[in-house]
Amino acid sequence: MATQPGIACDIVVFGGTGDLALRKLLPALYYLHREGHLHADTRILALARRNESNQGYRHWVRRQVSQYLAPGDFSDTVWSGFAERLDYLSLDVSQRVEFPRLARQLGQQPGRVRVFYLATLPNLFAATARHLASVGLADEQARIVLEKPLGESLPTAARINDEIGEYFSESRVFRIDHYLGKEAVQNLLALRFGNALFEPLWRNAHIEHVQISVLETVGVENRGDYYDRAGAMRDMVQNHLLQLLCLVAMEAPVHFEPEAVRNEKLKILEALRPITGMDVQDVTVRGQYAAGKRAGEELPAYYFEKSVDHDSNTETFVALKVEIDNWRWAGVPFYLRTGKRLAQRKSEIIIQFKSVPHRLFAQGHETPTENRLVIRLQPDESIRLSLMAKSPGRGMTLQPVDLDLNFAKAFKKRRWDAYERLLLDVIQGDATLFMRRDEIEAAWRWIDPILTGWQDCYRSPKPYASGSWGPDAANSLVERLGHQWFETDA
Ligand code: NAP
Repeated sequence: MATQPGIACDIVVFGGTGDLALRKLLPALYYLHREGHLHADTRILALARRNESNQGYRHWVRRQVSQYLAPGDFSDTVWSGFAERLDYLSLDVSQRVEFPRLARQLGQQPGRVRVFYLATLPNLFAATARHLASVGLADEQARIVLEKPLGESLPTAARINDEIGEYFSESRVFRIDHYLGKEAVQNLLALRFGNALFEPLWRNAHIEHVQISVLETVGVENRGDYYDRAGAMRDMVQNHLLQLLCLVAMEAPVHFEPEAVRNEKLKILEALRPITGMDVQDVTVRGQYAAGKRAGEELPAYYFEKSVDHDSNTETFVALKVEIDNWRWAGVPFYLRTGKRLAQRKSEIIIQFKSVPHRLFAQGHETPTENRLVIRLQPDESIRLSLMAKSPGRGMTLQPVDLDLNFAKAFKKRRWDAYERLLLDVIQGDATLFMRRDEIEAAWRWIDPILTGWQDCYRSPKPYASGSWGPDAANSLVERLGHQWFETDA
């Protein structure tokens, strides 16, 4: 059932032949169309430089998109309705002279909502905004969606924001972080602010530490060129991990509306204790994957990957101990960890509660887990709360048991992909789950000194075997305070 297919709009996808468009955006739009969330008069226009007719593009996209839908979800009937909305225009966004053609194609329709989705490299963002404005397409009804990474440092991000801001007011800029569109991430908000149970415990008096892990088994694949310039810190920590940290740590907003939510996230980014000078060596770990083996498969070292420099110093793994200097979180370490070519693919937030002040009962477990909340974002979305319970039989020996909320089992409905939800939010003009300019810049302000510290005194990332859990130094980082990474089962 459609929720609100009320707004007729034009969705213009720049980079319409790229990986993101084919793997994520067009499948998401297909599902929104199939389930009646797009107004009958909504049109989709894909753009790229490649010379292609409408028919040729639709034919090619049909083949591509059908691979990325869940098995059994592709239907010829649905596709033919979807294809009628879909057009292609060959256009080089760096050439202003090409934009009058785009304006003609979209036509004069005052008041019509237009979503310009920039699924291209960020160095094209400013020119695209400028050229849209030059042909009158950056009007009050136009929204611009920017993909990450937005810049590679505070000055570069600020420059992009300034350039975009000349033509699009902040309320019409949607900086996307697709992690915020994930069901389990929104469930974290539901859990925290829709239940009275956790709030009294959600603070330093009761929480021992927090872990946020975004682990991948894949290497850089075809993205070597981009990745070797970015590295894990810019690619993952600056956006996804810091956004997750904000949602765990922020205060309850007064309303669930964009400015209120984003104000609270910003306060957390501003309260992050700076990591500078010698602290960079103390509380950060960078690694790079070396050769290794997984399931009998030989995996090459990072520096042998396609388009990667053989002397590359780029990190493919980062672990950090982060502190938040405010009343709620003072003294609670937040451990962040992300990397490629690791033993397991999973994204998880773990809240480890403090131990009971005095143990009455024996523990049937070597390291007592006691109360731990595990919010799993992928591969499957779930929330698990570990409690201590009596082991059956004689005596009072305790062991951990889980209260397990698996969303796929609890809700039989199809799981929405993050891009479906976020695209619908853009159409409806709801920026709650998008990043505001000051958030992005506060994140860079905190990240930049770490990158500088690495450059100044800490040049080589530590090697770790492909298929492992990362460099040993990441374990030492948490063991210093008597903690350990939770390598929970799949
Ligand atoms: P990609 O596969 O390289 O696609 C780039 C797209 O931009 C292609 O359609 C390309 O088509 C088009 N393009 C390049 N130069 C152009 C120009 N001058 N004028 C018009 N079109 C141009 O890149 P991608 O992986 O889709 O990523 C796109 C953006 O999304 C990047 O900023 C990336 O960091 C971000 N992102 C991607 C993913 C992902 O999963 N792929 C995830 C998160 C964020 P032509 O060459 O035919 O022009």
